[in-house]
Amino acid sequence: MESSTEVEVMTMARCWLCGGQEHDLVKAGSVPNALDGAAFRITDSSYGISAPVYRCRSCGFRQCHDLRSVLPYYAAMEDPAYETSRAPRALQARKLVEQLRPFHASGRLLDIGAGSGILVEEAARLGYAAEGIDPSVWLAARAAERGLKVYCGVLPGEVAGPFDLVTLVDVIEHVSDPVELLRQARAMLAPGGIGLVITPDVASLAARMMGARWWHYRIAHICYFDRRTLCDALKRADLAPVRIFRPSWFFSLDYLLDRLAVYAPPARMAKGAWATLDHGAAQSLRFSGRDLQEGLIGPTPLLPPRREPDRTAALPPR
Ligand SMILES: [Zn+2]
Repeated sequence: MESSTEVEVMTMARCWLCGGQEHDLVKAGSVPNALDGAAFRITDSSYGISAPVYRCRSCGFRQCHDLRSVLPYYAAMEDPAYETSRAPRALQARKLVEQLRPFHASGRLLDIGAGSGILVEEAARLGYAAEGIDPSVWLAARAAERGLKVYCGVLPGEVAGPFDLVTLVDVIEHVSDPVELLRQARAMLAPGGIGLVITPDVASLAARMMGARWWHYRIAHICYFDRRTLCDALKRADLAPVRIFRPSWFFSLDYLLDRLAVYAPPARMAKGAWATLDHGAAQSLRFSGRDLQEGLIGPTPLLPPRREPDRTAALPPR
């Protein structure tokens, strides 16, 4: 059994940001034994259920290193509920693209983790030459049905840069090498290009108040950033934050009440009432409540590549 120690050393977890090997368990895991693609749906509402979350003693980053090989689950994932909530998600996507317009009013846009192409579609409506990439075969097929250019796979795949705008909306918290994902995003940026990263903020007021029941604790989320660790990740990928903001978020009322029913059973009754009374008129609801917004929207830097034209030019053609 001389190999047991060796195996233990080899599987010792390293921090996905700084490489540190000392972690503290900050949230116990509650993942079912048998996992399938359903647990990785965008619309999964098993809030508070996650793999064990560890915090790095060196840099403070929180990760779920017991659950790192998640890509096959995304490839197999189907999510019909995501498609039925397309309208409010489209509104949200449009608002996000509008945030980028002051930097590039036209040009090429790449949405990484594009799902069924909701942001790609909105960006195209705003005049951008928009493309996306997503590992889910099912979601990429939905995009194709709408005539949208969403490649099935992960970067670099078939994607040919460079792009003026690159977006990562609720994606970085799903991968076990977030810095590498940011580097890949950077490699897709044209000189002067700009990126957008959105991820839940584990230091938000909502996260702190809700503790282990926070709605962003999900099986599919294996990275938990706060503003500092996200900026740290950007720096390690040779990117710099330009602006951090918390955009508005949109949900259909019945979708939202369905989500909230996880916490408060009476909301499920209200859902029926609302849906019956005025389903059509209550299509979208904008939140300005700061607590809720902070929980739903993470730190959101706009990030350009550092001005190093030589290195950008040295990137191999794709
Ligand atoms: Zn670390």
